[in-house]
Amino acid sequence: MSAFPVTRLRRLRRSDALRTLVRETRLELDDFVMPLFVCPGEGVVRPVDGLDGIAQRSVDELVREAGDLASLGVRAVLLFGIPEEKDDEGSGAWADDGIVQQALRALRAEQPELVLVTDVCLCEYTAHGHCGVLRDGPNGVEVENDETLELLARTAVSHVEAGADAVAPSDMMDGRVGAIREALPHTPLISYAAKYASAFYGPFREVAGSTPQKGDRRGYQMDPANAREALRECELDLAEGADVLMVKPALVYLDVIRAVRERFDCPVAAYNVSGEYAMLKAAAARGYLDERQAALESLTAIKRAGADLVFSYWTKDLARWL
Ligand SMILES: [Zn+2]
Repeated sequence: MSAFPVTRLRRLRRSDALRTLVRETRLELDDFVMPLFVCPGEGVVRPVDGLDGIAQRSVDELVREAGDLASLGVRAVLLFGIPEEKDDEGSGAWADDGIVQQALRALRAEQPELVLVTDVCLCEYTAHGHCGVLRDGPNGVEVENDETLELLARTAVSHVEAGADAVAPSDMMDGRVGAIREALPHTPLISYAAKYASAFYGPFREVAGSTPQKGDRRGYQMDPANAREALRECELDLAEGADVLMVKPALVYLDVIRAVRERFDCPVAAYNVSGEYAMLKAAAARGYLDERQAALESLTAIKRAGADLVFSYWTKDLARWL
């Protein structure tokens, strides 16, 4: 390769048109999924502290919001439920008239084109806030893996029966992808394959009401220090029948997104989590940085690292920005 003064990389940076011609990574709204939170009631839009622009919505308001999103060109949403009541097993997760099931039926009827993805987990529905059932184990009370699998599969089936296009298990139990795949041979399955026990989920737990009453999730979510283990998780999930592999969070795990991209040929998703969103929102509110530019740069970084699809709270803003 010739060097300076023959090579001058600034030549292609001279104008916006030139920069656009040689741009390697582009943001397209088609690749983005907007997370939505549905709660009981009517006419409810309850904003979330720390997640400016995000709200819990009752089914009627959720349908209205989905209509807004669809008219802006958003193609897909991810649904989380906040149930009226919780119990030890999280039975609201698979109830026929559960909150997500109600939302799915309403959305399916109003927005036949919108891709409806559901988060499959028990933590929003269990009184203790863990992602599975608790049992006494050799090390004290633990989330019992194998008993939880059947409940997760039951939840996924109820979502599909109510109209979900794809299911996304986020619990991190071993074998859950296989259990759901066996129950749903034809449903696209987006696996939260490499989901880390992260501090960046803070605002989400507030909105989803899913903070564990006791203990934390390090017994099932991944250690933030491990990247090779993420590839093992991905390999197992693919073998069990996952269609899409997800890395969560995104911005502090760009190396993991890249590693998954390089190792596997399936679509790779990344979840740009609530803490990542809240940090920029808070900094922008204090005038420390420009939200739009910082958000676009962050989302570009996630795509550049190798994500095909991105779950982001900025999806609605992105629709306006692009
Ligand atoms: Zn969970």
